Amino acid sequence: MPKESKVHDVIILGSGPAGLTAAIYTGRSSLNPLVIHGRQPGGQLTNTTEVDNFPGFSEGIDGPVLMAEMEKQAKRFGAEFLTAEVTAVRLGNSPMEVEVGKDIYQTRTVIVSTGASPRMLGLANEWDLYGKGVSVCATCDGFFYRDKEVVVVGGGDTAMEEATFLTRFAKKVHVIHRRNELRASLPLQERALKNDKMEFHWDTVVSAIHGDKQKGLSGITLKHLPTEKEEDFPCDGLFVAIGHVPNTDLFKDQLDMDERGYLLTRNGAETNIPGVFAAGDVQDAVFRQAITAAGSGCMAAILAERYLESLEG
Ligand code: NAP
Repeated sequence: MPKESKVHDVIILGSGPAGLTAAIYTGRSSLNPLVIHGRQPGGQLTNTTEVDNFPGFSEGIDGPVLMAEMEKQAKRFGAEFLTAEVTAVRLGNSPMEVEVGKDIYQTRTVIVSTGASPRMLGLANEWDLYGKGVSVCATCDGFFYRDKEVVVVGGGDTAMEEATFLTRFAKKVHVIHRRNELRASLPLQERALKNDKMEFHWDTVVSAIHGDKQKGLSGITLKHLPTEKEEDFPCDGLFVAIGHVPNTDLFKDQLDMDERGYLLTRNGAETNIPGVFAAGDVQDAVFRQAITAAGSGCMAAILAERYLESLEG
């Protein structure tokens, strides 16, 4: 395998707000970070339209614009970017190794900011119809469902926010929840339950998705769990809002994680391997905000700088 002879000071995996903030800080400290974009350059904010709560933008800012600005800022300080997906990492080694297909990059520190991805239902057709009626992002796709019937799956805060947002466009929003009580926080529940464009289907799951790649989604099958009765349910849109899974498969057996796969960190961003730091949603199942991700990216960068200084003795 072609191995770069150069040993990088810092390689950053992922380019959401955590990774890009780490790139700005380590770049500004003349560490010439290499950022490997991963599957979704810019991270989850590239799925959003307006970001209203990132400090500094009094009128809000478009998610993709915010991420493009952060990348530009990181480049100004010398960060380099590689659009590729990492295929393997060897974190115990010295130097550590990051494999991208046939290429191997060597580095003294790694900042893991690979984020989290929406959890999917695991049904046949789900990916074939993704973007053709199946969505994970109401703010991105809601606009296309003006006067249509849509379904939102989930009973948490995300599902309530997505469903409420969709009532701005859709004729009717059906919420499908597997239990008979919501997990969402009280204010979001109350707002959703009194919205007369929303209809709740309790103790119910989506058991099949129908449609084809050409024509898109045509409907779903709903299964009422207590009676096991199934019914075909025509709809124009299916929004899956059942939580997220951290993108940590690459690090199994190397980095400590909790039972859900979130990386465990101490002291802000340290992992169990010296020189490896984690920031953003990959290690945060609780706050999951752009600003908290950016803050933890800053912590990871400062810890990486200190670690590199300690190597020089
Ligand atoms: P979540 O709280 O984990 O809720 C996931 C929902 O999906 C639950 O209702 C769960 O059902 C359901 N679910 C999970 N797997 C399922 C499956 N395979 N089939 C059917 N249903 C399934 O996730 P989230 O709503 O994305 O929220 C994540 C975190 O972000 C939370 O801490 C939340 O408070 C926070 N958040 C906050 C805001 C806000 O404050 N504005 C907005 C969005 C998110 P059960 O209830 O039966 O487990």
